[in-house]
Amino acid sequence: MSEWSGQASGATAYISHSSCSMHDMGKGHPECPERLAAIQDRLIAAGLWDYLLHVDAPPALREQIERVHCADYLDDLARRSPAVGTVQLDPDTAINAYTLRAAYHAAGAGIKAVDLIMSGRAQNAFCAIRPPGHHAERARSMGFCFFNNVAVAAQHAMDAYGLERVAIIDFDVHHGNGTEDIWAGDPRVLMVGIFQHPFYPYSGDIPKGSNMHNVPLPRASTGQQFREAVCEQWLPRLNEFAPEMLFISAGFDAHLEDDMGSLGLVEADYAWVTRQLMKVAEVHSSRRIVSMLEGGYELSALGRSVAEHVRVLTGE
Ligand SMILES: [Zn+2]
Repeated sequence: MSEWSGQASGATAYISHSSCSMHDMGKGHPECPERLAAIQDRLIAAGLWDYLLHVDAPPALREQIERVHCADYLDDLARRSPAVGTVQLDPDTAINAYTLRAAYHAAGAGIKAVDLIMSGRAQNAFCAIRPPGHHAERARSMGFCFFNNVAVAAQHAMDAYGLERVAIIDFDVHHGNGTEDIWAGDPRVLMVGIFQHPFYPYSGDIPKGSNMHNVPLPRASTGQQFREAVCEQWLPRLNEFAPEMLFISAGFDAHLEDDMGSLGLVEADYAWVTRQLMKVAEVHSSRRIVSMLEGGYELSALGRSVAEHVRVLTGE
């Protein structure tokens, strides 16, 4: 679908690419192509699909990815990319013939989102992409992630549009160790995160920089505890920082029904936190929000949660 087929300025862009469904880490792997189909199905069923500005994600340029990842690491991934079958990079993370193509388009989705928003062609954007990104460190793939999509996008916003303060908000059930690895100590970036702890990747309890506001939650924490942490810890810090653009690492594996983690969020919590972030963006960021898919593995809960997140982004 053409990027001009949806609504004009004020629209919520929905950015994806067909290659994102061709990356496949093997039968039974939870980070599976069906995740994107589940999201699409639910957006259609919710009546939201036709209201979105549908845009194909272009591939990110290698130089755009090199701004947050080491060149040697990118070369190593290319070297290990198989023509057929899969190659395990670690026990959780594998690469097939389409993985790198999907990863370049996934990172490119965030760059496209920034461009659409900064040029006024969209108000905000949801990037329905895989592989996800927030565990990818500057020089290491891990936890289903290859390129740190949200970091590539935030870097692009600063490089191409001169933004001086950007916020990254991460509500995936896992700590965004890759994003922390890339941005810890950089005063242009504030990262706020909530994650189950102790839990994979067993980091985040001691932040690596004063610009990292990490909120570990014990297993079995509820949506109410999540909301209290957002109100008491995230929102004051975000309002003090006054970001010019918000980037969301939107993982939905803290959902009650998602066996990957042991937190108790439900769809209403994702709608609620999205509304809180919309308010921050309205006050400080000219309502600019780029949201990028991270985790979320129980397909029905994932679809329902994304639908509520996107519904709020559209202003409904
Ligand atoms: Zn996760």
